[in-house]
Amino acid sequence: MRTINKEDGLAPRVPYMNAAADGGRTDNNTLSIVLVFFDVRERSITVAIRRSIEGLLSSLQNELPQPLNLSIIYRDNPPIAQPEHRRDEFHRIMHGIDGSIKIGITEVGLCDPVPPSRYLYAIDCDNHASLLSLHRFRQESTGTEQLLQRLGKGIVKAFGMACGLYHCNDQGCFLTYHMGELDFDTNMYVCKRCRADFVHALQSPGTASGETAHREPRRFGEVIPILARS
Ligand SMILES: [Zn+2]
Repeated sequence: MRTINKEDGLAPRVPYMNAAADGGRTDNNTLSIVLVFFDVRERSITVAIRRSIEGLLSSLQNELPQPLNLSIIYRDNPPIAQPEHRRDEFHRIMHGIDGSIKIGITEVGLCDPVPPSRYLYAIDCDNHASLLSLHRFRQESTGTEQLLQRLGKGIVKAFGMACGLYHCNDQGCFLTYHMGELDFDTNMYVCKRCRADFVHALQSPGTASGETAHREPRRFGEVIPILARS
């Protein structure tokens, strides 16, 4: 496994955030948010994802009582032979990374074990962790700009999953249910209620019920059930 590295030139630029190279907490009062890039080194993608998360955290900053630490680390994709084992391998790695909230990013396609078979945009890894797969984003986007815009929204959705927040009923919200890539294009904001839920979840990671009046309950166990648009 590769040694942990903070990404060169990508130290968080938001003043309140403390940079950390190890992905761990800087002290007991600091909330540690970790982006884990699995063999994803394309700079435009890492920058777009980091900036999206930074933007969200910055907008929530004044509502959070504790400081935030955003760190970026790299891992190799696990050597996975069988598609059905991919989720377990990523879960294992994500659970071994220290941090309050952890979001992985990989190019590896993640199949939904629940029929009909399709690739998923993101999965919940439990224990305050989630994993975003670039596979369908790349397949379904027609250009770099569109890809980066959609990834900027997809990473917020994955962040919400790691915080225990599931499908928002507001179709304009990044956290809504996604049937296909076109649904990302209708997402324009993080709605007020999801912002409040983020604040609540970040204040006490693991306590968010994820099932408030504006949010659909978690379905199919750990999977975001995103159907391919036909
Ligand atoms: Zn929402």
